[in-house]
Amino acid sequence: MVKSNKNKLKNNKKQISNKYFVYLDNASATSIDKNILSKMLKAFKDNFANPSSLHKKGEFIKNSIFEIRSNILKILNGQNGEIIFTSGATESNNLAILGIIENYKKQNKNLPHIIISSIEHSSIIELCKDLELNKKIELTILPVSNEGIVDLNILKKSIKKNTLLVSVMYANNEIGVVEPLNEIIKIIRHFRKRNNSVFPFLHSDITQALNYKEINLISLGVDMVSFNAAKIYGPKGIGVLYKRRNIEINSIMKGGEQEFGYRPGTENYPLILGLNEALIQTISLRDSENKRLKVLQKYFINKISNLLKKHKIDFRINGSLEERLPNNINITIDKIPSDLLLLELSQYDIYVSEKSACKSNEKKNSYVLEALYGESKESINSLRFSLGRDTKKEDLDYVISILDKVLKKLYIWYNS
Ligand code: PMP
Repeated sequence: MVKSNKNKLKNNKKQISNKYFVYLDNASATSIDKNILSKMLKAFKDNFANPSSLHKKGEFIKNSIFEIRSNILKILNGQNGEIIFTSGATESNNLAILGIIENYKKQNKNLPHIIISSIEHSSIIELCKDLELNKKIELTILPVSNEGIVDLNILKKSIKKNTLLVSVMYANNEIGVVEPLNEIIKIIRHFRKRNNSVFPFLHSDITQALNYKEINLISLGVDMVSFNAAKIYGPKGIGVLYKRRNIEINSIMKGGEQEFGYRPGTENYPLILGLNEALIQTISLRDSENKRLKVLQKYFINKISNLLKKHKIDFRINGSLEERLPNNINITIDKIPSDLLLLELSQYDIYVSEKSACKSNEKKNSYVLEALYGESKESINSLRFSLGRDTKKEDLDYVISILDKVLKKLYIWYNS
């Protein structure tokens, strides 16, 4: 995102002032949309009452939240479902998985089996590994190809009578690869039919997909989905768990009856309003942004490939190029530590990232890249450039010009 003075930059590309920022550091949204923010601020000011209150203000907010829930269900074609507001996608993922396990245990004595992919967000991987360690579930982690696509054959072979849930994200947050949910649901439906069973259910984390993929919950065949508002240019700190109405889950917190009792606590109306506005907006921009970003993505990949070749640096683009969101470019480079490159770029106010932001404090390699390549050298030294609504071609040209400079310097430091 360019914060200031594009024209100046155009006229004199060498001028690198601290006033020029390029945010390519987040899997999609880098700032809250201004109009959404102003609607939220108004709601903080004028509609801060508790929707559980009986007075007029409370009633107004309660009705507005009711309408927002219906609107979200309509937009996502999930009319036979429920919208549960949470604090974000992490909580939605936790509620989906823990909630369904706790409910299963009420009626079944055997250990539930859960299948996830090896590149799920940490809020799913870490939770499921912990549940397995504590003997609460049996866990299968599906491998992915070196393009990042889940292995459908292994999925088919892994589903068994006690498989309660399959959870596969629609698009990955590090490499932007889009998973074949339509094939996954076919395999699940086939198993259900053969075994005359309602299990397994399908959950998907659609946080990264929402800006770019059409989401029709009925035709996707999902039973539960998680997402947040932050990745669709809405506020941080709010998310949704959608579930089909006849799927029973337990709440994971005890308290009041808000959110159908699944998620107690006073509703945060301004955030709910912001999420709804962000969803409406992102869906209206989806087709044009897809088109625009695909062109920019191709442009940047070409530019960066040529640049790295010029500097004689081996590189690889991680994840399938075909089954990919238009905003993600993830590369592994040889010879130069990517964290240093990130810091150098940051000096020029170009903000990019390495692995998942939720894992950026760990010293380890990216577990997503390890899932693609194993513990080889390809799993280290990755850089992620994320394009977004504010990214323009001139931002990418600026990044390339700075990278050229920085690579020259770092190559000499590290390879002489
Ligand atoms: N799932 C995915 C795919 C994500 O990209 C993120 C955000 N990095 C999350 C879950 C967690 O979202 P939140 O920060 O709202 O908990």
